[in-house]
Amino acid sequence: MTRLILTILVLTLSSAHAQSDNWSKLPFLPPPQYDHPYAGELIINRVGPEVGVALSCPTANFVTGRAIACNLRTIGPGPKERCEIFIAADSVIASVGLTFDLVLRHEIGHCNGWPGDHPYARYISEADILVIRPIYRPYGDRHERRR
Ligand SMILES: [Zn+2]
Repeated sequence: MTRLILTILVLTLSSAHAQSDNWSKLPFLPPPQYDHPYAGELIINRVGPEVGVALSCPTANFVTGRAIACNLRTIGPGPKERCEIFIAADSVIASVGLTFDLVLRHEIGHCNGWPGDHPYARYISEADILVIRPIYRPYGDRHERRR
């Protein structure tokens, strides 16, 4: 009986693992030519649940079936380019293994003209994460050098 319960538990865990999305292991960042600050007017909205993202960009094609973020670009003939970004809540972002900063960088890439089918997307490197996430050392370097 115990063995049966353990087997079921392991199967449940593996299927949960298979279903979990970890986009941090996929090519996610824009290529260098689009990976820079946006020169136009940039508006960043937090919209909570995925349905808020989907409703904000009704014409967007969410090919993954997840609506984590989207953007609406306004290009000329007005005086200024404008890009409005909509990003779901941090908990939604975390459910695909990403952070707000990485998602924002992805969307700003689109603001800069990166096509929606993500040509030449780059993998997230250690350096990309270190730039964004401050390193917290509760005891400082001196403690780490002991022993
Ligand atoms: Zn995209």
